[in-house]
Amino acid sequence: MTKRPALNSKLASFGTTIFAEMTQLANEHAAINLAQGFPDFEGPTFVADAARRAIADGHNQYARMAGAPVLVEAIAADLDRRTGLHYDPLTEVVVTSGATEAIHATIMALCEPGDEIVMLEPYYDSYRACCAMAGATPRFVTLHAPDFGWREEELTRAFSDRTRVLLLNTPHNPTGRVLDRTEMETLAALCRKHDVICVTDEVYDRLVFDGAHIPMATLPGMRTRTVTINSAGKTFSMTGWKIGWVTAPSELARAVATAHQLVTFAVAHPFQHAVAAALTDADAHGYFEHFVTEFRKRRDFLCDVLTECGLVLRPSEGTYFVMADTRPLGWSDDVAFCHHMTTEVGVAAIPPTSFYENKDAGRFLVRFAFCKRMQTLEQAAKRLRKRLRPRPGIA
Ligand code: PMP
Ligand code: GLN
Repeated sequence: MTKRPALNSKLASFGTTIFAEMTQLANEHAAINLAQGFPDFEGPTFVADAARRAIADGHNQYARMAGAPVLVEAIAADLDRRTGLHYDPLTEVVVTSGATEAIHATIMALCEPGDEIVMLEPYYDSYRACCAMAGATPRFVTLHAPDFGWREEELTRAFSDRTRVLLLNTPHNPTGRVLDRTEMETLAALCRKHDVICVTDEVYDRLVFDGAHIPMATLPGMRTRTVTINSAGKTFSMTGWKIGWVTAPSELARAVATAHQLVTFAVAHPFQHAVAAALTDADAHGYFEHFVTEFRKRRDFLCDVLTECGLVLRPSEGTYFVMADTRPLGWSDDVAFCHHMTTEVGVAAIPPTSFYENKDAGRFLVRFAFCKRMQTLEQAAKRLRKRLRPRPGIA
């Protein structure tokens, strides 16, 4: 070893992600994992069959750098059908290794050291790290519990002529908020006013239970300055496949592709064929009605149980997640609460302070994932009802 630490100073403050940490703790204590957001059930058979077929058909060498033609065409056609937005498959779509790589490649491509990136907090953990890797300065706008709205003056103050990117996520992990039209229009107006690019992570766009998801690129004047990120992981319950993508006007897409080609070059070829089949055939299989109905049931069940156990929450409008306030049970330290939950109650959850700069805004909250079989949620409910008690000393 050398005298200098192995990890460079940009990444020194980033330890193991909270998702890996809580999953390991859950496994050690045989706790039910409502921490990490991955389904404990299989994705649709017609999609898995398409992956097997793609391997058998010999799609096993490098794919086209910016995405297999069959997939970029399917992505553009799907977006056109659902939103009326037209993207040229060959110049305005880039396929990446999950949304995670899409976020990284986009930030690396667009930002100079010293540029500012505005993000809502709680934020998805990789946003902060990508900012650090690019040498950009993050500016946080807190979504305040219990309603998870921002304060107007805090939002306006975050933007300036130094702002390069608004890094947005709606439907929002971890709060379960789906930003409404007024909120989206407010953000769009700020982007236009300060000449900012909106990088919008919409990986949960098909998982909306209440209200409607409004894609940023559909708002007036926004298509030309928006990079939209999506992923098949959440939409098709195949989080291990890591097929994500970016849709953006050609100049922005070309910039993202420049970074992408030097990080991964091209991503898993047979899975690209399978995701193309998934996007093209989902409606014929009636996939999405069933998908949203089942998820709504899971959400309602878990929210009812948590409320019954004394936690206070605002039912999630979308995503895999719900946030709850632990103070009624006497807990205001999320890390201690999640440790107690995992080791004593037998149900793991995520302490959200990992997603906040302003830790005090999240210390009294906990994130639960409901992307699990009903049977898993029922088993978790039994443990919660039996073992989740107010902290000693609390009436
Ligand atoms: N963005 C958000 C908001 C997420 O919750 C996740 C995790 N599912 C990702 C990005 C990463 O997605 P992927 O697994 O496709 O890399
Ligand atoms: N997106 C998932 C979550 O929010 C986890 C992704 C990961 O483990 N990196 O829980």
